[in-house]
Amino acid sequence: MEVRVRYAPSPTGLQHIGGIRTALFNYFFARANGGKFILRVEDTDRERYSDESLEDLYSTLDWLGIKWDEGPVVGGPYGPYIQSERFDLYKKYAEELVEKGRAYYCFCTPERLEEVRKAQAASKSEYQGYDRHCAHLSDSEIKEYLRQGIKPVIRFRVPTEGKTTFHDIIMGDITRRNRDISPDPILLKSDGFPTYHLANVVDDHLMHITHIMRAQEWIPSGPLHVLLYEAFGWDVPQYCHLPMVMGKDGQKLSKRHGSTAVRDFRQKGYLPEAILNYVTLVGWSLDGNTEFFSKEQLEKCFTMEGIHKSPAVFDYKKLDWFNGQYIRQCDNDRLASLIAPYLEEAGFVSSPLTDNDKALIARIVPPVKERMKVLSDVVPLTSFLFRDVPVVDKSVYVAKGSDEEKTGEALKKASAILLSGLKEGKDEEVIETELAALASEFEIKVNGVFQPIRVAITNSTVSLPLFDSIRLLGLDETEKRLKRAISLFEE
Ligand code: GLU
Ligand code: ZN
Repeated sequence: MEVRVRYAPSPTGLQHIGGIRTALFNYFFARANGGKFILRVEDTDRERYSDESLEDLYSTLDWLGIKWDEGPVVGGPYGPYIQSERFDLYKKYAEELVEKGRAYYCFCTPERLEEVRKAQAASKSEYQGYDRHCAHLSDSEIKEYLRQGIKPVIRFRVPTEGKTTFHDIIMGDITRRNRDISPDPILLKSDGFPTYHLANVVDDHLMHITHIMRAQEWIPSGPLHVLLYEAFGWDVPQYCHLPMVMGKDGQKLSKRHGSTAVRDFRQKGYLPEAILNYVTLVGWSLDGNTEFFSKEQLEKCFTMEGIHKSPAVFDYKKLDWFNGQYIRQCDNDRLASLIAPYLEEAGFVSSPLTDNDKALIARIVPPVKERMKVLSDVVPLTSFLFRDVPVVDKSVYVAKGSDEEKTGEALKKASAILLSGLKEGKDEEVIETELAALASEFEIKVNGVFQPIRVAITNSTVSLPLFDSIRLLGLDETEKRLKRAISLFEE
């Protein structure tokens, strides 16, 4: 049997880390088993639907290099793959269940339902939900309602007795008493729109989905879906509910923890291969050891057995670390084209780039490559080359363990050593040793000497390695800035 899995997002918001993890697990599982990965757009909730989120879905998968075998745009044998284009079909299936006696028409007005709800709340009755008022209408009653032009919804008849069990590959058997399943959920709304449950089950069946890998928050829907499959007389696919994605504090990952939208990560300058690698490790491992995986490797080695049972933690720091590693592995030409938009956006270079800009960026790449965690770091790291905003707060020049007086003195002497050394063409290491010796003369740490010159030259405490900065800035400009800082301390 061919493995067929699907990612079935609702385009009601931006793709977030948890969603994309579901997509990746499905995609890798399909690839590793020589199966098919299907993309299905579940856009039955027209109120929460937005074009922007649909575009975001496509562009995010595209950015990650995830290609679907069947789905919107590419088509496939069981299309269309956008639920709003399949509405007629759901109606037919809902009516089939009515014929079988497993579903029924309900003509209750919203007002009546609201009264029922209020009465239930007031009486604190154990029984909450639809009161099955229309569960046993006679044919003539139904005809009469229809004659009056009242449009019914179709409700699923949930058995009141017995239990329903579904098997989950990760969680094992999950059993629920049927009377605990929300009574008689709507399958088809009065405007002919299907609800999530109907559309989801019908499509998974018609699209021959073999494994349903989705977030754990869908477990409560499991028993109802199983009852639907049985009512239709269809085989139940295999379920595999994925562990929750948590923040470090053990709470469900949310905006409180930081960005969760993949688009935000992309804008900050995370590389797709880093996101893909790290996100796949959130709740999955091959051997508990290996951390670096390329997409191609995961396409071969992903297994369902490697999915963890316990909740997974999304660690932003760890992702930063991964991203840094991938940046350092990145080819220089590619990195140049990746950082260019950030420099354009900051107004440091022109857009489109001139030949001079291109040459400068090529020189910037090697030093920034060693320092960036995210691509947008290139802006603070290189702004000293494009904007000269001197630091006038003396305390910024003072390193830990030093003081203002020593800093001023050290700056003066260090500048002399540095400038003459550079002009004489001394080895950088030699100059560094001389600067370090100066520190012991002042009885301060090495940074007590390096920090003031770094701040003087780059107008910042976080910057590129000293000699790289000087090379990029040029000797004349370096000298000018050092002198300016010296005079600041002489004021
Ligand atoms: N449309 C649902 C969602 O947005 C799909 C749930 C499922 O995979 O069954 O998560
Ligand atoms: Zn009713």
